[in-house]
Amino acid sequence: MSGPAREVTAAAAFAGMRRAVPVVFKAACPDCRGRFELLANALRLAIGGSSRTTFYSFTCPGCGTAVRKPAGDRIVQLLSGAGVRTLRLHSTV
Ligand SMILES: [Zn+2]
Repeated sequence: MSGPAREVTAAAAFAGMRRAVPVVFKAACPDCRGRFELLANALRLAIGGSSRTTFYSFTCPGCGTAVRKPAGDRIVQLLSGAGVRTLRLHSTV
């Protein structure tokens, strides 16, 4: 019975490693064309009523420009799952 038990232990260990390693997002600045990696706390996610008003934003570490990019469902899931601060915009008037 030691075989299956080992597999479970290995899976748990991997889950622990995933949690310990901070998630890094690759981003590019359209202004200075710099490329860099950002941690979850450097990003902000805004979810609006439609895909047009859903975006993520960050401040470029190179030139200080506030960059805003549209976020699809997949990106929203990715960012919110990584602990990015999420802002919900209410546009149902
Ligand atoms: Zn920049």
